[in-house]
Amino acid sequence: MPDKNSKDKNGKMKEKLSKEKNKELLSWKETWKYSLRALKLFYRYRPGLLWIHTFYTVYTALTPFVNIFLSARIIEELSGGRDPHRLTLLVLLTLGLAALLSLITSLTRRHFRVEDQYLYWLERTIRADKILNMDYALVDDTKIHEKLDTLEQYSSGAGRSLRRVIWFYDMILSGVVSLFGGFSLSVSLFTSRVPESAGGLTALNNPLFVVLIVGLLIAVTYLAPFFVVKADAVWAKSAGSQNLGNRLFSFYGYLGHRSHKAEDVRLYRQEALCGKYNKDKEGTFHSRGYYAMQTRGPVGIYYAVASVFSVIFTGVIYLFVCSKAWAGAFGLGMVTQYISTTSRLSGKVSSLFQVLGQARNHATFLKLNFDFLDIENTMAQGSRHLERLHDTEYTIEFQDVSFRYPGSEQYVLRHISMKFHAGQKIAVVGQNGSGKTTFIKLLCRLYDPTEGVILLNGVDIREYDYQEYLSIFSVVFQDFCLTNFTLGQNVAAKEEYDRAHVEDCLEKAGFEERLRSLPLGTDTYLSKDLSDEGVDMSGGEKQKIALARTLYKDAPFIILDEPTAALDPIAEAEIYSRFNELVENKTAIYISHRLSSCRFCDNILVFHKGSVVQQGSHDSLVQDSDGKYHELWFAQAQYYTGS
Ligand code: ADP
Repeated sequence: MPDKNSKDKNGKMKEKLSKEKNKELLSWKETWKYSLRALKLFYRYRPGLLWIHTFYTVYTALTPFVNIFLSARIIEELSGGRDPHRLTLLVLLTLGLAALLSLITSLTRRHFRVEDQYLYWLERTIRADKILNMDYALVDDTKIHEKLDTLEQYSSGAGRSLRRVIWFYDMILSGVVSLFGGFSLSVSLFTSRVPESAGGLTALNNPLFVVLIVGLLIAVTYLAPFFVVKADAVWAKSAGSQNLGNRLFSFYGYLGHRSHKAEDVRLYRQEALCGKYNKDKEGTFHSRGYYAMQTRGPVGIYYAVASVFSVIFTGVIYLFVCSKAWAGAFGLGMVTQYISTTSRLSGKVSSLFQVLGQARNHATFLKLNFDFLDIENTMAQGSRHLERLHDTEYTIEFQDVSFRYPGSEQYVLRHISMKFHAGQKIAVVGQNGSGKTTFIKLLCRLYDPTEGVILLNGVDIREYDYQEYLSIFSVVFQDFCLTNFTLGQNVAAKEEYDRAHVEDCLEKAGFEERLRSLPLGTDTYLSKDLSDEGVDMSGGEKQKIALARTLYKDAPFIILDEPTAALDPIAEAEIYSRFNELVENKTAIYISHRLSSCRFCDNILVFHKGSVVQQGSHDSLVQDSDGKYHELWFAQAQYYTGS
């Protein structure tokens, strides 16, 4: 039976769904601003893309008019002069030009297609570049993840992407160029006069009548896209309104695909978490859900009305052209020319209106993209040059440092003061959640302190060039990340590397035997994703590779933040002390919630609820029977009796 708590949660979810209200469209000014920005962004990344789109679009918009013009001349000759010589020349000219134009189109299309396929990659690159250059604090923020998720959903699912602006550009350019081409071939339809002998049909010469017909054609041309745009606006106005539904759907839809989740999904039947929502007929993607209701309702009706106006246009134009031809204003050839040109023109102008409207609707999605791309980094990047000194010449000092995570009221670290002397081996111990990793994140400037300062050789670390400061740390985090590239590239974190040095580091990290068993040695890919000969390493082997990576970097500070958490306490202690022998003069910081792993260290910092409650050597700390260290040591002693 569902308990009250789960009822509350479902209630809240529904409430959240109903609160996700539709938005107003952006103004034309904003539409223009965002569209132009998107075009400029693509141009900055790849100027050739816009050049080829411009050329191809203008060219393909104009060529149909050449065919229309020549075909009309042939029909004119057939129904008028019937001169075989002229007819042959016209047919040959038409065929020759058609072949040439089509060849140029096909040749250009190759480049156009290549650039078009590249667009998807380009959009991802723009987003990835932004993420990679963001402050770590921002990347770690759930609100930023939400924004990113929303962008991903729109750009992959509904095509509401940044790159769609290129499509709008093509369509608008094509519409404007066709307008000129079409206008030049159809203007005489309205200016040519019906002969006086046509009796009542001379009314067709009346300028008022011509204005009326042109007005009617423009109105009908405008009305079809008007309704299509109205349909499209329904989706734009609801941008972001179905976020929760989309998220639940992607959670459910991809549960089975993600291999690292597959075990838990099966054992805990995690799909049941979305069960209620999936069965709810009003859920986002269900028969009475938002999308279905809109598609059956206003969206469907707008499309139906739009299609009627397209037919009305064709009717009016046929009536007008045929009446003038009947009355003797022009011959059969011109009938073909006018009907083909005006139909094409109307189609293009109609698309132009439609695309302009859609571009306005789409601006909402462009804004979402730019809201993300405009997120500003707030961490000082620093400009002071950090000279590379000898390993033993660095000192770090925490001066009354306190910290709370952005957006959180709760302090995770409180009044931390300490000094690391170069070459020291330091342990940071304490229970899970006591603030050990946060302490390291501050040290490596992934976050800046909320209060207090951290000094490197007496200078606030915020003053140093950020990248140079990062370069003095070699860290293996608990959830360290290796890439799918080769073993050597992973250790060196570079494409080109010193093979002998990589092998030496792997050997020191205890990977020697495994390295010898690999036929491709350091050229072995660490997954089958990039090479069929790739090898999947075990958890322990990956740890050794990560340790080798810290040795290769040869930074003066080495930090191990429980990368061995999956091992048993004794194995972890062995790795830590063996690693300690390798780091020689460097300053090494070992983090663990298992005290036995770090007993060899000169200085042990005991963290408890965000404060350093004790520090000293193992022997002195364990003797203080009232201290936290003593309490933890004896609580954990069962795991390493005999060590
Ligand atoms: P430890 O490494 O000792 O296990 P952490 O430094 O990871 O502890 O975490 C200390 C506290 O900070 C915990 O209460 C944890 O929930 C909180 N915390 C960790 N990361 C974040 C974060 N990104 N945002 C908010 N709170 C966090």
